[in-house]
Amino acid sequence: MGAGVQLSPNGTRILHRLGLREALDRTGVRPAAFHQRRWDDGRTIQREPLGETIEAAFGAPYYHFHRADLLAALADALPADRVHLGHRLTGFTDRGDRVKLRFANGARAEAGLLVGADGIHSTVRAALFGLERPRFTGCVAYRGLVPAERLGHLGLEIAANSWLGPGAHFVHYFVAGGRLVNFVAIIERESWTRESWTDRGEVADALAAFAGWHPQVRAIIGAVDETFIWALFDRLPLERWSAGRVTLLGDACHAMLPFMAQGAVQAIEDGATLAACLREGGTDDVAAALERYEALRLPRATRVQELSRANKTRFHLRDGPAQEARDAEVARRGERSIPAIEWLYGHDAGKIGPTGSHATS
Ligand SMILES: Cc1cc2nc3c(=O)[nH]c(=O)nc-3n(C[C@H](O)[C@H](O)[C@H](O)COP(=O)(O)OP(=O)(O)OC[C@H]3O[C@@H](n4cnc5c(N)ncnc54)[C@H](O)[C@@H]3O)c2cc1C
Repeated sequence: MGAGVQLSPNGTRILHRLGLREALDRTGVRPAAFHQRRWDDGRTIQREPLGETIEAAFGAPYYHFHRADLLAALADALPADRVHLGHRLTGFTDRGDRVKLRFANGARAEAGLLVGADGIHSTVRAALFGLERPRFTGCVAYRGLVPAERLGHLGLEIAANSWLGPGAHFVHYFVAGGRLVNFVAIIERESWTRESWTDRGEVADALAAFAGWHPQVRAIIGAVDETFIWALFDRLPLERWSAGRVTLLGDACHAMLPFMAQGAVQAIEDGATLAACLREGGTDDVAAALERYEALRLPRATRVQELSRANKTRFHLRDGPAQEARDAEVARRGERSIPAIEWLYGHDAGKIGPTGSHATS
């Protein structure tokens, strides 16, 4: 989360298929386990293997990245002449056979298909379905990166660590080949007025928000030089993603809270399914391919979006009967065990059956 990003096998199998395995292995960290613990005494709520176990089960690894490393790996894989930086789309016209695009720098372009992968504040979405502000979710996040050697005394496991507590949770994991520890500390707040992604947060405020938490959590926050703070927004699920020769992908159509660590992975899945629909349908009937894409993707992305939102309440329960019931239920169901997570990690978004059904690995 934050400067880091977790990618589960339902995303990484697609990236590996695109030939990115070697590039991802260079900087990606493969956590050995998912470990969810209680905020104060550190007692384990659930612990499930990742590492080789997850790769053997689903045919692709679970990775942790610094976002800059992941973006560099993706950008390096693209022919330079296919990427045009510095072009902010301001408007478009769907002419039926072509889409005409207009950019803030005065450039114009034409294409057979427009995919709005332009994030939570999507211009394409607003043009298709009207302007609607994203919802403030009542959560804000402090994020930070700590040089790993500063935390050597903690003996941190190479794992996806998540600590659940009253009105807050704390996530940390290694990134950048293990050189840095990334953390995100999420707390609840009633309102938020700033929109910047680069607002500095005070380390002292973050420590105060996590007063009484386990020493490991406080030691990680206390070791950071600077933190950034930003609000978490999401959107209500859409009923449609496409119109004519124009569609949406990723946060543009299903912005979600990061509490399933799936926003980017779902965007990768979107891309794989969209490519498969276009490949199969050919370019003669783009609208039909987009309809199929939407029919395959919208229910799944909506499900993940809704589970992510539900986790805000589940993760932040005050100690008491509801929290005890949650912990007992998680222990019973093994929420992140291989059988329980198969629906999510086993899905192969690049394989679409003739009837529109998806294959699983
Ligand atoms: C705290 C936090 C932690 C997260 N952790 C995870 C995680 O562990 N795993 C995970 O899978 N997801 C995670 N996510 C979610 C993930 O970051 C997003 O879902 C993902 O970045 C969405 O990708 P996207 O390409 O759809 O949009 P974005 O990443 O927002 O990219 C949109 C791009 O479009 C560009 N753009 C915008 N408007 C225009 C325009 N008009 N013209 C041209 N370009 C434009 C932007 O500059 C940007 O480059 C997390 C999110 C947060 C907030």
